[in-house]
Amino acid sequence: MSAIAAVVFDIGGVVQDSPLHAIARYERERGLEANAINRVVVAAGEQGAWARLERGELTVQTFYAPFEDDCRARGITVDGRHLMAKIAEASAPRPRMLEAIRRIRTGGLRVAALTNNWVTEAPGPASPRDAAAQSRLAAHFDVFVESAVVGLRKPDPRIYALVCEKLGVEPPRVAFLDDIGRNLKPARELGMATIKVEDPDQALRELGALLGLDLVS
Ligand SMILES: [Mg+2]
Repeated sequence: MSAIAAVVFDIGGVVQDSPLHAIARYERERGLEANAINRVVVAAGEQGAWARLERGELTVQTFYAPFEDDCRARGITVDGRHLMAKIAEASAPRPRMLEAIRRIRTGGLRVAALTNNWVTEAPGPASPRDAAAQSRLAAHFDVFVESAVVGLRKPDPRIYALVCEKLGVEPPRVAFLDDIGRNLKPARELGMATIKVEDPDQALRELGALLGLDLVS
């Protein structure tokens, strides 16, 4: 019997295909240096447009102009609307992740999502993050914590404490999966078991070993 009682999944790049791949494709198409957009996001920091979007302080529509300013201030030209449309197109759920979540819950563990996301004012064909898609996805989880709803974003330690509180499970009995290393650090510091997701099958094998469950075959 595993000591782990709950599993927390990041969404983008873990349960869904990676937004980082969509961003990389945009950079290639626009002749930008690889990782140029992530460098702007990190350099602009907690008061940058991206962070404000993920805390729900901006909607996607009010984000474009300040984000384009952040990019311009750091020497690159980005079309915010086109970039976000590319990310939205790429965010399809991974069937084997949904199956793993089903098996974990069947095994008696609790499962949460912990996602840095954003709100769109006008759901439409260009935004699979609309209410209907979101609630279809949320139905797979016991607890669904969204940065744009709670006003906190990873890697703020408070959002990790919040998801554990909602699960009713202490951090040392929680496993957390994310595709971004800096999002794993606060989880580890709280005592969670962490798995960095590069290859989804490899991550599910690691998680399965940790839980004593077969999540892959
Ligand atoms: Mg992610």
